[in-house]
Amino acid sequence: MLGGSTSTNFMMYVRGNKEDFNRWSTEDLGGDPQWNYDSLLPYFKKSEDYNGVYASDPASAEYHGKGGLRNVATYDFQPGVDEFLAAAVEKGYTIGDYNGANQEVFSKIDLTTQNGWRESTYRAFYRDTGKPSNLCIKKYAHVTKISFKTVSGQPKATSVTYKRQGLTRTVTATKEIILSAGTFGSAKLLMLSGVGPAEHLGDVTAQAAVSYLSTGNGVLAASDALAGQAFFKSPVAEPDYADLQVIQFSFGLYPQLPQDMNRMVGIRADILDKWFDPYHKTNTDARFCLLIAGRPKSFGNMTLASTNPDDNPIQDPQYLANPDDVEAMLFGFKKIVDLYENTAALNTTLFLKPVPGCESLVFKSDDYYRCVIRMFSFTIYHHVGSCSLGKVVDSQLKVKGIDGLRVIDASVMPRLPNGNTQAATIMIAEKGSDLIIANM
Ligand SMILES: Cc1cc2nc3c(=O)[nH]c(=O)nc-3n(C[C@H](O)[C@H](O)[C@H](O)COP(=O)(O)OP(=O)(O)OC[C@H]3O[C@@H](n4cnc5c(N)ncnc54)[C@H](O)[C@@H]3O)c2cc1C
Repeated sequence: MLGGSTSTNFMMYVRGNKEDFNRWSTEDLGGDPQWNYDSLLPYFKKSEDYNGVYASDPASAEYHGKGGLRNVATYDFQPGVDEFLAAAVEKGYTIGDYNGANQEVFSKIDLTTQNGWRESTYRAFYRDTGKPSNLCIKKYAHVTKISFKTVSGQPKATSVTYKRQGLTRTVTATKEIILSAGTFGSAKLLMLSGVGPAEHLGDVTAQAAVSYLSTGNGVLAASDALAGQAFFKSPVAEPDYADLQVIQFSFGLYPQLPQDMNRMVGIRADILDKWFDPYHKTNTDARFCLLIAGRPKSFGNMTLASTNPDDNPIQDPQYLANPDDVEAMLFGFKKIVDLYENTAALNTTLFLKPVPGCESLVFKSDDYYRCVIRMFSFTIYHHVGSCSLGKVVDSQLKVKGIDGLRVIDASVMPRLPNGNTQAATIMIAEKGSDLIIANM
């Protein structure tokens, strides 16, 4: 799909915490200063045309770009956000710009839209900006392989093979190949081409060119459980900065909600139907909170199912495998319940029916919440880390040990930023384009 996930995502513009990027620089790249937050901030700003609620604040220029190709604005329709923010004030939390100096704030949500339309990367960087004549897009082309030649004793990526409308074609690169197939697509293509952990590729492919993706440290993704926008730090946060994100959803309970939620996040509709019954049959107003473990300590794995490029890879996300992730969310859960139940502005009660599967536990006890977190978690689609900086690609985004091949997409993030991932992905793309130009 043109625009990739930005053509289907929830459009939230959230960069993550400054310290997330500083850790890329120090922990993942051995102290390379070009990947710390201060060095990356110009790349966040470059593509941004910021028209959010803080646009008139002179201090916002330090953190926000103006005149970039992608509109970022606080959207008008956020029903219930005023009570959410008033409750935060009652509790002594700070209201502010989560993409600014301090992430640990409550706020309205900024989106990537333009005149009410979704502003995907396809619209922002291609369709609405004059369709650059030196770019050729082959729609419906499915890349199946990257091929290599040995040049001066080192593998060099030389061509890409793709299938399109029943035909197989190979294109040869004159300079280099840029892989941007996303966290699952890029790692899958590398492995299909023989780049990956030798012990795995030995099982599924004819030959392994390079061994890089280390098992146990592959795909990393946030999971979340049902609970404006806020960021918290839990007691198990390491290092010591915000590791939780909270997003309020104000939608009512209505008869089709179980089916709609099933389509959105995959929770079984029959379980939701049992839990909501009978309230969703009476069109009752409700507030939902999404609690996201933004810096999970659990890591998943991704392997090839076979050498057939049409087969999906095997994903083993290992959500909540590290007990600290549950404890972080337990802390967040209790904070949210306290905010909703113990403020005049919200004056709301936790949905009184126990979550199916947790009925035997004392309602609102820590063990009850832990059960809810384990029973009701799902992915929020922020998968990263399959081709991570430091392990698979170097600080130039070049695949280690191979010439002529870079990866530029969410897969290179070595750890999740505490936030949604499109802003950081586009920042990486802006940085990547400068790295390419510098090598020309
Ligand atoms: C439902 C959903 C909601 C989300 N909500 C938000 C949000 O509100 N805010 C936010 O910041 N982030 C959100 N995200 C995450 C964010 O959109 C992604 O992290 C980001 O877009 C990743 O960009 P990418 O370029 O790495 O990969 P992708 O966007 O996945 O793009 C990869 C592209 O490569 C193509 N591709 C893959 N394999 C091949 C192949 N073999 N041949 C040819 N093409 C191939 C794919 O079709 C796709 O078009 C959401 C994601 C999803 C799925």
